[in-house]
Amino acid sequence: MATDLRLPTDKIVRPDKDRFLNEDNPFEGMMSRFDQAAELLDLEPGLYKVLRNPEKQIIISVPVVLDSGEVEVYTGYRVLYNTSRGPAKGGIRFDEHVTLEEVKALAAWMTWKCAVVNLPFGGAKGGVICDPLKMSVGELERLTRRYTSGIMNTLGPDSDVPAPDVNTNERVMAWVMDTYSMHMRHTVTSVVTGKPVEMGGSLGRREATGRGCMIVTKEALKHLGMDVKGTTVAVQGFGNVGSVAAQLLAREGCKIQGISDRTGAYYNKNGIDIDAAIKHVKEHKSLDGFKGGDAIANADLLTLDVDVLLPAALENVITSKNADKIRAKIICEGANGPTTANADAILDQKGVFVIPDILANAGGVTVSYFEWVQDRGGYFWTEDVVNDRLRDIMRTSFADVLRLATTHKVNMRTAAYMLSISRVATVHRLRGVYA
Ligand code: NAD
Repeated sequence: MATDLRLPTDKIVRPDKDRFLNEDNPFEGMMSRFDQAAELLDLEPGLYKVLRNPEKQIIISVPVVLDSGEVEVYTGYRVLYNTSRGPAKGGIRFDEHVTLEEVKALAAWMTWKCAVVNLPFGGAKGGVICDPLKMSVGELERLTRRYTSGIMNTLGPDSDVPAPDVNTNERVMAWVMDTYSMHMRHTVTSVVTGKPVEMGGSLGRREATGRGCMIVTKEALKHLGMDVKGTTVAVQGFGNVGSVAAQLLAREGCKIQGISDRTGAYYNKNGIDIDAAIKHVKEHKSLDGFKGGDAIANADLLTLDVDVLLPAALENVITSKNADKIRAKIICEGANGPTTANADAILDQKGVFVIPDILANAGGVTVSYFEWVQDRGGYFWTEDVVNDRLRDIMRTSFADVLRLATTHKVNMRTAAYMLSISRVATVHRLRGVYA
């Protein structure tokens, strides 16, 4: 019989429920959304406590011999937030701004994201505090391999499966896979996803997150009775997610009026030629010097008068300071955590339809799941099969969240949290508390 996690006199005690949140702390922001959904679900207090805490937090020192011969010691993290539904899944980030709070928030988001699209995975995230842009390829390889060996005990196709995230890529995943395989004494492709296709990666993985954003944006337009053709769009961030989403939306007939990256933002009323922008980035490594639009201030991109805003760069860019200036009717959150919890309330009041990150950018982890399945089966799918299955999962998940939002009269974010938390909670109830 499933464990009863509700004590007769128990009540959920939410910490500082009405306090104005620290907008800079992504873990607090994630938790406030979790709390709201947990209350609406009337989650049992025992389970509430279980789901508010990460299962495992690993902090390691990562010594690396630099090219100069000196030794530098970096700090690395791996957080497994919840693995009740399956192996932990989540990327590895190399960045100078990585903190344990951020990694915890990202690991929790991965848990909810995998559940919202109903993948048999839990959630994790990893990070190393470093500036990869200042490191040589050799230094990066040594950092990756030492970090991998430091978290070796948690890694494995059945326990913890990393993927690329900010400043890590296919090459880094190849090093993780090789290091793990050397320790296991045989090749284990399914220990990471986002690998090169030549060594067990999946066709369609690179485009999957941007493709997922395009699919759910089209679903939102349909729901709001808006025509895809001629819909105007602004995209913040022109990396893996933003550039692919912009390209695919343009192919569907949208007019991409604004794009940006860390070097600047560009506006063109008649629509930016996205293929030309992608070519420019390939040749110049950034949008700097792009001639296909007028240069505008980076912050102004977010408040352009467009139908759809697609933030695909960073966390915490739509805050209580600029939310009231947003003019888009739809926000599709390509990035993780681009909107703060304080900004949510303002967007709600304005009637902006927000497709939350845990749904909007779940295309990436969905095709990561396909990659893991293909590696384990040793049989690889065509790109059309990958894209068709991705489309089906994104559409079904959008409809599931929308149904819940309509039934409970809540916004899409709260509905997405309710759906994912209830799925994780159901498995906890069935499994009980091991003693
Ligand atoms: P990326 O490094 O490929 O691209 C990031 C882009 O954002 C770059 O163009 C960069 O110049 C730009 N940028 C950085 N600071 C900016 C600023 N201040 N203003 C405007 N642009 C700025 O990264 P990515 O893989 O595209 O990831 C982007 C976001 O999407 C991150 O939040 C990531 O966690 C999230 N995400 C990525 C995936 C994936 O599969 N890649 C999946 C889910 C979520």
